[in-house]
Amino acid sequence: MTDFTKTRAMFDIPEGMVYLNGNSLGPMPKAAPQAMERFLNDEWRTELIKGWNTKNWFMQTNTLGDRVGRLIGAPAGSTVVGDTLSIRVFQAVAAGLSLVPDRKVILSDNGNFPTDLYMVEGLMKLKNDGYELRIPDPEAVLDQINDDIAVVMLTEVDYRTGRRHDMQAVIEKAHRHGAVVVWDLAHSAGAIPVDVGGLDTDFAVGCTYKYFNGGPGSPAFIHVAPRLLDVVEPALSGWYAHEAPFAFDTDFRAMPGAIERMRIGTPSIAAFALLEAALDIWEDVDMADLHRKSIELSELFIGEVEARCPGVTFAGPRDPKARGSHVSFRFEHGYACMQALIAQKVIGDFRAPDVMRFGITPLFIGEDDISKAVDAMESILKNEIWREERFQTRSKVT
Ligand SMILES: *Cc1c(COP(=O)(O)O)cnc(C)c1O
Repeated sequence: MTDFTKTRAMFDIPEGMVYLNGNSLGPMPKAAPQAMERFLNDEWRTELIKGWNTKNWFMQTNTLGDRVGRLIGAPAGSTVVGDTLSIRVFQAVAAGLSLVPDRKVILSDNGNFPTDLYMVEGLMKLKNDGYELRIPDPEAVLDQINDDIAVVMLTEVDYRTGRRHDMQAVIEKAHRHGAVVVWDLAHSAGAIPVDVGGLDTDFAVGCTYKYFNGGPGSPAFIHVAPRLLDVVEPALSGWYAHEAPFAFDTDFRAMPGAIERMRIGTPSIAAFALLEAALDIWEDVDMADLHRKSIELSELFIGEVEARCPGVTFAGPRDPKARGSHVSFRFEHGYACMQALIAQKVIGDFRAPDVMRFGITPLFIGEDDISKAVDAMESILKNEIWREERFQTRSKVT
C-alpha cells in the first residue's frame, strides 16, 4: 500500500492552505530548492558547456521521458519530455496525418481544451489542403469514427467536468477503421491509471506541471507507439531529432527508429532539475492505490457538498470510474464563490461559465482537507459571503 502520509510530507504547502488545485498546477516538492541549487552550483556554474556530456543534459529528454513513460504504461524508449503541450499536440496530429495521407478529417470533440483545437486549426491552415476538423459532443465521438477519419484527437479526461472517454473503445474502433489516435493525457497522467502501451495508442501527449508537480511551465511529454518509430515523420524537424545533430549537415534526416525523432530543440535543463525532484516522489506510488484514494476522497467531497451546500450542483459523471481526479460543481455565482473560498485559503479554480473545479490529489490532500473545504463553502453560501464586492472582479487568470 502506498503511504500517503509519506508523500504528503514531501510537499511544501503553505501553512493553513487547503490546496485543491493540483490538477492545474501541482505544489512545490520540498526537494525542489535543493535540486535547483544543485543544478546551479554543481552543474551550470562548474561544468558549463561540458554539462551536456558530463551531466547528461543532452539525453535528459529521454531519461526523464522514460520516468514519465513508466507512469503512463509506456515502454522504455517511447517517450520524451520537452517543449509545451500545445506544441506536442501540433506535433502528434501532424505526424498522425502524414501516416494516413489519403484522408482529410480530424475528429475531436467540443469539450476538448481549446488550445488542442486551436493548434489543429493552425495546422490545417498551414497545410492548406482541404482538411476538416469535426467536433461533435463528446458522447457522439465513438459513433463518428469511420473510414473518413485520419486522426482521432481526444483529451481523455474533460478539463471541466472530469468525464472520461473510453480509451480502449476509441482506439479499437479507430484502428479498425484505419485511423490514427492521439490522446491528450493532461488530466490523466498522474491522476488515474493509464496504460498507453497495453492499449496500443499511436500517440499520447501531456504536461508535467499538473498532477506530476514539475512546476509552472515544466516540460510536456510525447509518447509514440514503438511500432511507429521507424515511420513517423517529425513535422517539427529540429536538430535534436536529427540522426547526427553534431554533423551539422544542411539536410534533415530523422533519427531512425528512435523516439529522439520527436525532440525539437534545446530544452530548459533548469526545468528538468525541478521535474526530476518531482518524479522522485512517484517512486513508491502505486497508481491503483492512488486512484482508490482519489475516488474515496471525491465521493466524500461530492456527498458533503450536496448535503450542505444548496444551489451547488455536481457537474460530473456519478460513476467514479467514469471520471478523472477532479470534481466540478456548477453554481450561478461560481466565480465569486471561488474567490471567497480562495480568501479562506481553500484553493480551487473556476472555468467559465459557472464551474467551480477542485483537484483531488491524494499525494498531498486527505479527509481533513475535504472537511475544511466543505466547511468553508457551506459558510460562504449560508452567509452569502460571495456577494462581497471584492469577490466580483475577474483576474486575467481564473
Ligand atoms: C492544461 C492543458 C493544456 C495546456 O497546454 P500548454 O501548452 O501547456 O499551455 C492543453 N491541453 C489540455 C487538454 C490541458 O488540460
